Amino acid sequence: MDPALALAIFALGLAFGSFLNVCIYRMPQDISVVFPGSFCPQCKHHIRLYDNVPVLSWLILRGRCRQCQVRISPRYAVVELLTALLFLACYAQFGLTLATLKYCILGFLLLGLIFTDAETQLLPDKMTLTGLVLGLLFSLLVPVNDLVSQFLPGLVSLPGSGASWRLLSVLDALMGAAVGASFIYGAGAIYLRARGVEGMGFGDVKLMAMVGAFLGVRLTIFTIFAASIAGSLFGLWTLFIIWIKRTRRRMQRNHESAHDARHRAWQSALVALRGFPMPFGVFLGGMAMIALFYGNQFLRWYWRLL
Ligand SMILES: [Zn+2]
Repeated sequence: MDPALALAIFALGLAFGSFLNVCIYRMPQDISVVFPGSFCPQCKHHIRLYDNVPVLSWLILRGRCRQCQVRISPRYAVVELLTALLFLACYAQFGLTLATLKYCILGFLLLGLIFTDAETQLLPDKMTLTGLVLGLLFSLLVPVNDLVSQFLPGLVSLPGSGASWRLLSVLDALMGAAVGASFIYGAGAIYLRARGVEGMGFGDVKLMAMVGAFLGVRLTIFTIFAASIAGSLFGLWTLFIIWIKRTRRRMQRNHESAHDARHRAWQSALVALRGFPMPFGVFLGGMAMIALFYGNQFLRWYWRLL
């Protein structure tokens, strides 16, 4: 790793992170990300260039707008820092290659989607569908090297030419997108039946089509399984917290016995969880990020285990 180049990539990541903040704020509201320039969400005052330096400006202004002193969410500095670390990690893992560019783009989109889903429960098409197209295009430049590439040449004899790996790679990306999308679509339908509320929307379907196009079938399945485990743990943890809080409240306010309070709080916690918006996009996006860096390692380890 060249330290000067690493520093430049880190700085580039900070700049892209700053742009990503604009996307996270504006895309769910359908405002252009280009025009107007950065403004304070409270007083709408134009933010000057010297107050718009990633991370540093936020620290110097102690997380407040220079004009109206309204608090600026630490999310701005966090996203900038995470994007810079992501770019650096891609460079460290894949070197100065097209693969680094591909995974920087995927990671950038995933970060944006994780934060928009957490803040607004929306996964903008401008990120997911653009990502799907980019993932398919990148399969022509960086081999996806998934099931089709590994097994199809053994099953049918293909004309051996330089172009054939690109064809196999595109097929891998298309299959990843199709499997990712249909898996989530099916899971969403089952979830709707079982719980009577919409758990996963089309945003999640498009998100997983994008992830599938970038990562191929195996890592897409890994992402979905890991995300469903993480989501279940999060659901149980939320249920537990609501239960504890309501039990305590019932004992203090209503002077119920511990046994009654626990029992009734459990019933009402179950009802409350039903209405709780589960941020599935956050788990899918987060696990896709882990799959990007560690998925293949995990799959190799898992195969050896079997
Ligand atoms: Zn302001």
